[in-house]
Formats: sequence, structure tokens, C-alpha cells
Amino acid sequence: MSTAAPEGGTAAISQAGAEVRLSGVNKWFGDHHVLRDINLTVKPGEVVVLLGPSGSGKSTLCRTINRLETIDSGSVQIDGAEIPAEGKALAELRSEVGMVFQSFNLFAHKSVLENVTMGPIKVRGKSKREARELAEALLKKVGVVNQADKLPAQLSGGQQQRVAIARSLAMRPRVMLFDEPTSALDPEMITEVLDTMASLAKEGMTMIVVTHEMGFAREAADRVVFLADGAVVEENTPEEFFTNPQSDRAKDFLGKIL
Ligand code: ADP
Ligand code: MG
Repeated sequence: MSTAAPEGGTAAISQAGAEVRLSGVNKWFGDHHVLRDINLTVKPGEVVVLLGPSGSGKSTLCRTINRLETIDSGSVQIDGAEIPAEGKALAELRSEVGMVFQSFNLFAHKSVLENVTMGPIKVRGKSKREARELAEALLKKVGVVNQADKLPAQLSGGQQQRVAIARSLAMRPRVMLFDEPTSALDPEMITEVLDTMASLAKEGMTMIVVTHEMGFAREAADRVVFLADGAVVEENTPEEFFTNPQSDRAKDFLGKIL
């Protein structure tokens, strides 16, 4: 199953991406309608960048995909299967959908290596040796294998975020959600994390990425989906979206950030 990676000489160790389909998804927080009739299909291996003003529902949308948030109506499917409501089936689903946040949330008292081996050992029932081999391959892939025995706090923010990506990948996800993964990083560390994400995209991972890095959106996204007030207002190729936005909301948004 391993094939040559485009760069770095390490094997492609991610799984083939799954399809994600949201149909008629609505969600309220109290009387606040935060997701409005969302219809969005992300094809296997597709990279979708979600853009929109603060509060438009980007994080909530991501969180419905691994059921960190419940929905009030509609459906969310991974490869045609409805997301299970609870129990073992939900735990399995969650391990197929990796999520990387702004804060890295590594276990502070575990080494980098242990952070990556824990999930496969505890959830996937891997032997220590198997988990270690996979973790080392993944740490190599994200460029931090020589930090494996350190504690997270001994690493830079960019290195920690790459460990967080490796930790997610160790669960062999078929979809990766990234919610502002570089927002907490110093500028000089952003590129190394975006490069890691771009190489994952090239390997065929299905990715949904919330980011303010428009360079990444232009280069790595197959499609930009623009949300405002909880609704998909516009979706297009990055080229079209950035050069020829259609809606006033998108024009206004781009006017503020570009
Ligand atoms: P974005 O990620 O685009 O900034 P969010 O998905 O975080 O937007 O939030 C969408 C809206 O839902 C915002 O108005 C936010 O205040 C509200 N919201 C998010 N999480 C909660 C929650 N747990 N309880 C109540 N309101 C929430
Ligand atoms: Mg958010």
C-alpha cells in the first residue's frame, strides 16, 4: 500500500480519502440559526477551503462532520453512511475523521512519540512495535522524527502542530478537518505546516480546511466554499472565487482580507 511520496522520500501512508456529504443540514444554538440548510458534497480526495467572516459557522460545520456537534435536521454522511449517534460506531467514525485545531492539544506529559502511538495502541489495538513504526514513519513525513523523544513544550509551535497532524494521521483517517491550524503560529512557522497539509492533499486525502491563508486556498484548494450567516453563499474554484466573486458578501469579505 505504500507508494513513493512526492517529496522527502517517505512513503505515502495516508488512506484513500472518503466522500463527505452534508444534505439539508440545519443547526440552532438556542434561537440562533447557525447552519442554514447546508448542502455540500466533498468528493474523495477533494480539498475544500471554507471561508467566511468570523461567526459564519465554519467551525460548527466542521464539528458536525465528526459529531462534536449534533445537528437539528438533515444528514451528514461519510462514504454514504450516516454518522452514528453514539457508542462504538461513533468512536470508530471519529477515528476515521481526523481533526486539527488552532491549539495543538498534545498531551503535555507524554513524549512526541507517545502522543502519536497512544491512539493506535488504545483505540486501534496495535502492538507497541507496530504503533511505533507507524509513528516514526509519520513523524518523518511531517519532518519532526528527530524530536520524537522530547516533550511537546520543547518543540516550536510549528513542530507541535506537525506532531498534531501526525497524531491524527496515525488513526488512519479518511477525512481530515483543519480548523485554523496556523492561526496560533508565529508567521515563520506557518509555511511548514501548510506544506505538510499540501503534501497530504497531494496524496489524495479528503480535506476540509478553514484558514485565513489565502495562498494555501489558491494553491491547494480544489474548491472554495464561502459561508456567511450559516449559509453557503458561494462556491467556486479558487481562481474564480478570488478574481471574480459573485455575491456582495464575498466581495465585502475579500475586500477586507486581501
Ligand atoms: P466561525 O468558526 O465561522 O467563526 P462558529 O461556527 O464558531 O463560527 O460560530 C457560529 C455561530 O455560532 C457564532 O455566532 C457563535 O457565536 C455561535 N456558537 C458557536 N458555538 C456555540 C455554542 N457552543 N453555543 C452557542 N453559540 C455558539
Ligand atoms: Mg471558527
